[in-house]
Amino acid sequence: MLNKFFRLFSHDIGIDLGTANTLVYVQKQGIVINEPSVVAFNQKTGQVVAVGNEAKAMVGRTPSHIVALRPLIEGVISDFEITQEMISYFIKKVHSPRVSFFARPRIVIGIPSGITEVERRAVREATLMAGAREVYLVEEPMAAAIGARLPIQEPVGNMIVDIGGGTTNIAVISLGGIVSSMNLRLAGDHLNQDIINYARDEFKLLIGERTAEEVKIAIGSVFGNGEEMECPVRGRDLITGLPREVFITDEQAREAMGKSIKSLVKGIKEVIEATPPELISDLMYRGIHLAGGGALLKGFDKLVEKETRIATKIIEDPMTAVVRGCGIILEDLDKLREVLVEYEEEDTPY
Ligand code: ADP
Ligand code: MG
Repeated sequence: MLNKFFRLFSHDIGIDLGTANTLVYVQKQGIVINEPSVVAFNQKTGQVVAVGNEAKAMVGRTPSHIVALRPLIEGVISDFEITQEMISYFIKKVHSPRVSFFARPRIVIGIPSGITEVERRAVREATLMAGAREVYLVEEPMAAAIGARLPIQEPVGNMIVDIGGGTTNIAVISLGGIVSSMNLRLAGDHLNQDIINYARDEFKLLIGERTAEEVKIAIGSVFGNGEEMECPVRGRDLITGLPREVFITDEQAREAMGKSIKSLVKGIKEVIEATPPELISDLMYRGIHLAGGGALLKGFDKLVEKETRIATKIIEDPMTAVVRGCGIILEDLDKLREVLVEYEEEDTPY
């Protein structure tokens, strides 16, 4: 009874704990947080100094005792405590402190598909320790498909490819479950690294991760359109040690990213190959759906379409699909329970 009373104050939460960005959805409010998954902490005191936007602005600019890091490298928790600090920071930010002790929220949280049981448990524990009353895990491609309003509970095949910062999740979903899938530890960040390597090898120029990302977003593409584009990049000349600016063209950026893009397409094809024939015929009819920030690379949708011969489109608002999906699950937990990741309880010995 009392519990029910406190529930009135508690608004349940959906979280997309992405490698690049964390988004938080609060029941009846919508998406209230969309910030980089970055934490800055003081190594001398062990204290967290900043989280999210504030911490990202510090990357590469901190004095030696402060480090700004991304706790989720490649979609898995690489630093448990820091991840937990990050989750609790975001939960506190959206949850009224007055009632938080009594009215701890229920949380639906997205995890990459194909992560290990140990990694899953780490996400769950971190969320519980950050103040959740109950934690429900959903695989990110499933959440993205729900966010895109694909008919995932029907007996038809739905294909979703979620290209994030650290991981790409490729999945075919039917009847509320994942039929075939692949989790590649290759996504948007890797393309940035390709550009960094290219600048180092071709221009003897050392550039930062943020500069590389700017190049990718400004002129990165999969096909040329006959019109040359270029973008200035500034960095440190590896020979003189001094600052230098060069111009990188769209063609050069394509050359830099080519191998990684091929691997992404190969992954998509492999998942199609592992899909039962009836579902393939659905995919041909329904198409391939791209989600995540990485899907915004110009021309990538066309390349997938060309290589798979299946119509491919970027879903609406691709970077918020996972958290919107978590929100839809929260609002309708009874009907959507089957899409959650099952937990195997440990046997209690008598
Ligand atoms: P995650 O779910 O892992 O947090 P996101 O879905 O937020 O990742 O996507 C982040 C990735 O998308 C980053 O690697 C970023 O560089 C990339 N990205 C964002 N916008 C674009 C764009 N317009 N073109 C190409 N890549 C983009
Ligand atoms: Mg994501």
